[in-house]
Amino acid sequence: MSQIDTLREMIASSHSIVFLGGAGVSTESGIPDFRSESGLYSAVSEFGYPPETIISHTFFLKKPEMFYEYYKKNLIATDALPNAAHKGLALMERLGKIKAVITQNIDGLHQKAGSKSVYELHGSVWRNTCMKCGKKHSLESVVNSVGVPRCECGGMIKPDVVLYEEGLDENVLGGAINAITRADMMIVGGTSLTVYPAAGLINYYSGSRLALINKSATSYDNNADLVINDAIGKVFLELYPQLLED
Ligand code: NAD
Repeated sequence: MSQIDTLREMIASSHSIVFLGGAGVSTESGIPDFRSESGLYSAVSEFGYPPETIISHTFFLKKPEMFYEYYKKNLIATDALPNAAHKGLALMERLGKIKAVITQNIDGLHQKAGSKSVYELHGSVWRNTCMKCGKKHSLESVVNSVGVPRCECGGMIKPDVVLYEEGLDENVLGGAINAITRADMMIVGGTSLTVYPAAGLINYYSGSRLALINKSATSYDNNADLVINDAIGKVFLELYPQLLED
């Protein structure tokens, strides 16, 4: 049996599936990940710091100009469109198969594809808040600002994304854990599973249908019941060829 057929069978016999994904889910939408060869680590020379340093809480407060230069250039992609992986997951939710999509991504593409039950572990570039008065600001106002975006009150605007050194939102994390513990199947895709606590969420799954879809190997491969080393959009197109018509 082919790996796709095995995945198809696992999905057919499951009723409460959760998906845990990362930056690799959005590479086929043209948004670079961190750790692939063409990923954002290759931009280190331009800024002189690795991404983890630039998008850390300390760096944001100390060098907001450089933070925003990097952030606007590399992490905001307002025109990006959902690919077959996002669309396939939204379809699976409509079919009653997927109960939750848990993502480390901040790009909002799962919602753009139509997924409703989405846990954004690391927040979203689409929400932004003034650090002084708490006013909410649009992504557009951040994108259109010159340099560091500021509120009318003079306060600095911070994206509602979880920077390195910052904790995850407890409600989001709790909801994600709850969904995983109730799941009869877990699909993990497009993540190097190196960023914690997100990667550790996999340990809350205790069932016997854990499928990993990732271009490169991960340290969790030995725990999985099925490992597919391929592009996740391609895999979803094979699962649901009707997505081609979208
Ligand atoms: P990562 O960059 O560490 O790993 C990405 C993984 O996806 C790699 O193992 C790579 O082999 C795999 N991959 C790349 N393209 C793929 C594809 N088409 N199909 C299947 N696998 C593919 O990403 P991570 O584990 O999510 O951790 C990076 C952190 O940076 C996360 O917190 C993430 O939220 C953030 N980030 C987010 C975005 C985004 O919102 N789109 C982009 C870059 C980084």
